[in-house]
Amino acid sequence: MRAMSADSILNHLNSAQRQAVASDAQRLLVLAGAGSGKTRVLVHRIAWLIQARQLAPHNILAVTFTNKAAAEMRHRIEDLLRAPLGAMWVGTFHGIAHRLLRLHWQEAKLPQNFQILDSDDQLRLVKRIIRTLELDETRWPPKQAQAFINSNKDEGLRAEHIDTFGDPHQKTLLTIYQQYQDACDTGGMVDFAELLLRSHELWLKQPALLQHYRQRFRHVLVDEFQDTNRIQYAWLRVLVGNDGHTGITIVGDDDQSIYGWRGARIENIRQFGDDFGRTEVVKLEQNYRSTSVILNAANGVIAHNRDRLGKNLWTTGDEGEPISVYAGFNEVDEARFIAERIQQALQQGFRRDDIAILYRSNAQSRVLEEAMLRASIAYRIYGGHRFFERAEIKNALAYLRLLQHRDDDAAFERVVNTPTRGLGDKSIERIRAVARELKVPLWQASLQILHHKELATKAANALKGFLALIEQLDQETRGVGLAEQAERVIHGTGLLTFHQNEKDDRGEARAENLKELINACAEFEASLDQDSPSLAAFLDHAALEAGETQADADEDSVQMMTLHSAKGLEFPIVFMAGVEEGLFPSMQSVDDPGRMEEERRLAYVGITRAMKKLYLTYAESRRIYGTEALHAPSRFIREIPLHLLQEVRAAARITRPMSSSDNSYSGGRSGVREPVRSYGGARMQAADSPYQLGRSVRHPKFGDGVIMGCEGQGPNAQVRVNFAGVGEKRLVAQYARLEML
Ligand code: ATP
Ligand code: MG
Repeated sequence: MRAMSADSILNHLNSAQRQAVASDAQRLLVLAGAGSGKTRVLVHRIAWLIQARQLAPHNILAVTFTNKAAAEMRHRIEDLLRAPLGAMWVGTFHGIAHRLLRLHWQEAKLPQNFQILDSDDQLRLVKRIIRTLELDETRWPPKQAQAFINSNKDEGLRAEHIDTFGDPHQKTLLTIYQQYQDACDTGGMVDFAELLLRSHELWLKQPALLQHYRQRFRHVLVDEFQDTNRIQYAWLRVLVGNDGHTGITIVGDDDQSIYGWRGARIENIRQFGDDFGRTEVVKLEQNYRSTSVILNAANGVIAHNRDRLGKNLWTTGDEGEPISVYAGFNEVDEARFIAERIQQALQQGFRRDDIAILYRSNAQSRVLEEAMLRASIAYRIYGGHRFFERAEIKNALAYLRLLQHRDDDAAFERVVNTPTRGLGDKSIERIRAVARELKVPLWQASLQILHHKELATKAANALKGFLALIEQLDQETRGVGLAEQAERVIHGTGLLTFHQNEKDDRGEARAENLKELINACAEFEASLDQDSPSLAAFLDHAALEAGETQADADEDSVQMMTLHSAKGLEFPIVFMAGVEEGLFPSMQSVDDPGRMEEERRLAYVGITRAMKKLYLTYAESRRIYGTEALHAPSRFIREIPLHLLQEVRAAARITRPMSSSDNSYSGGRSGVREPVRSYGGARMQAADSPYQLGRSVRHPKFGDGVIMGCEGQGPNAQVRVNFAGVGEKRLVAQYARLEML
C-alpha cells in the first residue's frame, strides 16, 4: 500500500489541531482540555514529521504515560503512515531510561546483567539495611525509608546532595539511603526511580553520548506533560539542549494533573517557555469526546479550582442525556444498581468494552466485583489486582488459614516474617531444611528447632513470638464471629499498623483494603446459616474468587479501575461510584486546599472519560475501611449545574421531610431528596409500614436480607428484599412469611 501523503495527514483535523501538527516551531506546547485531541495531535504530528519534514522514525522519541498507551500510539501512527515504524522510540519515561541503561551499561557504570528491583524487592532490601544498621523497625518503618529514597531520587537527589541541617531523624534516613545505594551498586541492582536518575547522570557525565542522542533525536514528543516530575523534566531539558537541533512538542492539561502526591509538578508546564526557549503555544478548545451535557458538567466542576491556566472547552456534538445521579441505600445497593444498568445497556446493544466503572479507592472494588459476579457480567480490573489477589489481603488470609490448619506451609511461609519480626532468610531456610529432613510441616519443624535451640537468640525469640501469636489468636477467637475474628487478626498480627505506618499512598490503600476484608467477612457471615463453619467456608470462598481468572485482555469485558488509571482513556458509558464526601473528595483532602484542588482535577478527569452517558452514584450509608458511616453526596455533584442532573429514584423510598425550595444539591442529607423535578412513579412509603427500608428480615427459603423498598399497603403490598444469598426478590407481603429481625 502507498504511504499517505503529508496533506492527507491533516485531513480529519480542525484548524487549531492542524496548526499544531504542521507547526515549524522547535518548541511547541499544546495546552488543552480533556478530549480535545491532544493525543491525536501528537500521533498526527509524528506522522507529519516523518512525511513532510522527512524525519526518519529513528529521529523521533515519543513519551507516553503507560506501556499500553505507547503500543496504541505506535499502532495509530503505523496506520496513518501505512508503514512499520521499527526504529522509532516510543515508551514511558521508565521504559526509555531502561533501554538507555541496557545499551550503555558500561558508561552508566553498571554490570551488563544489572537487575531491575521492583517495589517489593526494593522494600526487602531496605529492610535488610535497616536490620544491618540495627535500627528498630517500628521507629524506622522500612516503607517510610523506601519513600524517602524514592522521593529524593524523583527530585534528582543522591544521598550526598541532601542537607539534613543536623536533624538526627533525617540523618538516619540518609544513612539508610546511602547504604541502600551501596548495596544496589555492589549487587548490580537498579530500582525504578534510579532508572531515570542514572540516565540523567549519564547525559551529564558522558557528553559524547549525549551528543550522539541529540544528533539522533531530532524531535521529542511528550503526552500528559502535566504529570512529569522534576527528574523527568530535567532529563528532557538536558536531552533537548538549546542549540535548536532537537525540537520538542509537549501536550498537556493543567486541569488533569493528578499525581502531585507522587512528585508531579504542574509548574513544569508554566516553566517550560522559560527553560526551553521561545515556545509556540496552541490551545485546542473543541471537545470531540463527550456530549455537551457531560462537557458542561466537567466545566462546572473544574471552574471551582482557583489556580488554573484557563481554557474554554466547547462541543458541537449532541446535547446528550442528562447525567444520572443515584443515591444507593448502601454500597451493596449502589453496586446492584450499577450492575442492573449495565445489563440494560448490554441489552441495548452496547458492548461490555464500552462501559467503565471508576472509583476513588481500590477498596471500593470488592463490592462492585461481587455485583458483577452475581450478575454474570465479565469484568476486568484495569492496572490492578482483584480484591482477593492483593498482597495485603493474602497476608491476612494466610493468618486465618494458619488458625485453621497449623500445617498450611504456604500460609506459614507467607507470614512467618510479615510484618517483619526479625527472622532472617537464613533462619527461614533452616526451618525449611528441617522440615524437608523430617518430612514434617514447617510448623512442626519450627517447634523442633526451638526445642533443640538451633537458632541464635534473636531469631529464636522471633520464631517463638510468631508461634505464640498464632496460638494466642486461635484461643482468643474461638467461638467469635467471622468478622470479629478477622478484625482481631488484622490488629493482633500488626498487619494493619504495619500498612498504616507506610508513608506512601499505597500503604494507606493497603490498610483500607484490610479493613474492607472485615466487611467482606461480615457480609459472608450474614449470607450463611448460623451453624455453618464460617471460617473454613469463607476461606474457600476467598480462594475461589481469587482463582477465578480475570477476563482476558482481549475478551469483551466491563473495565473497572481507579480514577487515576483512567487518565487518557474514553468510554461511551461511565459509572463513577462512591461520589461522596469523605471518600471522593477523600477525607484527608477536606482540610487541605491544595489536595482538594487535586481531588477536583481527578473528578474532572473522571467526568471527561464519558462519551455518551455518565452515571454518578453514591451510598447514603457505606461500610468501608471497616466501619459504617453516613456520607453526604460529594461537593463535586453540587458543583455540576443542576439542570444537567437527573436523579434516579427507586420505586419506593424512605419518607423524608422535604425542606423548602432549595434547588441545589445542598450536600446536607435532606437537600438531596428535594423534589426538583417530578420522578415518575415515585410513591412514598407510609411511615408506619412494617416494611421499612433497610430493615433486616429472614425468609424461610431465601435466608437473610434487607428491605429495599415497598410499594402499596396492607396484605397486597409488594416488598422488595435484597437477600444476601440469592439477590433481590419481590414478594407479596401476605405470602412472604418474612420474619423481622
Ligand atoms: P485527554 O485529555 O483525555 O487525554 P485528548 O485531548 O488527548 O484527551 P484525544 O484522546 O486525542 O483527546 O481525543 C478525544 C477523542 O476525540 C478521540 O476519540 C479522538 O479520536 C476524537 N477527535 C479528536 N479530534 C478530532 C477531530 N478533529 N475529528 C474527529 N474526532 C476527533
Ligand atoms: Mg490524551
